[in-house]
Amino acid sequence: MSTANGSTTTDGAQSAQKRLYNFSAGPATLPTSVLHEVQDELLCYPGVGASIMEISHRSPTFVEILETAQSDLRSLIGIGDDYEVLFLQGGSALQFSMVPANLIGDTGRAGHYLVTGSWSKKAITEAKKEGEAVTAYDASASNFDHVPQFDESSASDYDVPNDSAMLYYCSNETIQGVQFQSEPWCPDGVPRACDASSDFLSRPIDITRYGLLYACAQKNAGPAGVTVVIMRRDLLERSPARLAGYMNYANHAGAQSMWNTPPTFAIYVMGKIIRWVRDQCGGLESMAETNRRKAAMIYDVIDANPEFYQGHAKPDCRSMMNATFKFANEDLLSEFIQQAAEHDLTALKGHRSVGGIRASLYNAMPVEGVEILASFMKDFVAQHG
Ligand code: PMP
Repeated sequence: MSTANGSTTTDGAQSAQKRLYNFSAGPATLPTSVLHEVQDELLCYPGVGASIMEISHRSPTFVEILETAQSDLRSLIGIGDDYEVLFLQGGSALQFSMVPANLIGDTGRAGHYLVTGSWSKKAITEAKKEGEAVTAYDASASNFDHVPQFDESSASDYDVPNDSAMLYYCSNETIQGVQFQSEPWCPDGVPRACDASSDFLSRPIDITRYGLLYACAQKNAGPAGVTVVIMRRDLLERSPARLAGYMNYANHAGAQSMWNTPPTFAIYVMGKIIRWVRDQCGGLESMAETNRRKAAMIYDVIDANPEFYQGHAKPDCRSMMNATFKFANEDLLSEFIQQAAEHDLTALKGHRSVGGIRASLYNAMPVEGVEILASFMKDFVAQHG
């Protein structure tokens, strides 16, 4: 039997399952149709007689899976041949070290950081172990509720020198729910390095505006285990040979992401999700439109009830992916979570550093799940307002 959330319930005590609306910040909800495909192929990948988890990463079958995922990603985003697409392990946390180790490297120059939330803060802490990392902007005094002001040609709130090794920032701070609406200004010639972990594939990006962009998969792009790094090829020249082998982007680029055994299963699922965005969601423009619609449903309820709900992010930098808000009366939090669960709405508790609620509205969260949440939020005000 098919349920509203696209899941299947089966009769029988052990297998009766119902998929809930899972607002987890990551690992996060995945498209039900993709999970079904994975389930169908789990024991025997077509033509192989074994699970995809059981075959060599050098087998023609897996090499094709990896190359197809790379080329599908290239065409979905519009990535030219002057960029490498790498599939790595170590999560985004390893990128906190790899980005500065390679891009600041031995340039003798500093990298500049916009610290707009917990993840960019953690990134600069790690970067300082690898090279000279300078805080160009720090939003911590307001508990990370905004991003700096800038336009195409300058920034009023921060500065980046012309000889900077890079401008590093996090496009969407998953914990605070603060998102850059466009790429922050930096001087011509300075590469932007972006942690796009929690808004990757949620909207179109002009990759030519980046030196390097990375994202762990477990929000919009797949299960935990694979991290995508897209980087301009000429920047590989900066990678110092002295780095530990895994830390060196040039090794991964030279070995087509097979410098060591790649996370085969995660890459296989990610390939399916990239095609799901292309074929079922109509590509990135259309995905962004749906995401805007979903986010607006939640923020509209917050704005309509300012005495009751308090959004964490300033309105002009609200995240389309992670909506964070609190209650004027903080005592209502646990009741909200409890009642939400009765509507099949789960994983809504905010991170302890922000408190309140965090509703993660990633690509695979169906519109209908957000409608139910928005309507529940209204009812909750009526009940308690
Ligand atoms: N950056 C951002 C924006 C994140 O949301 C996360 C994980 N939630 C990370 C980095 C760290 O990712 P990982 O756990 O894969 O190392």
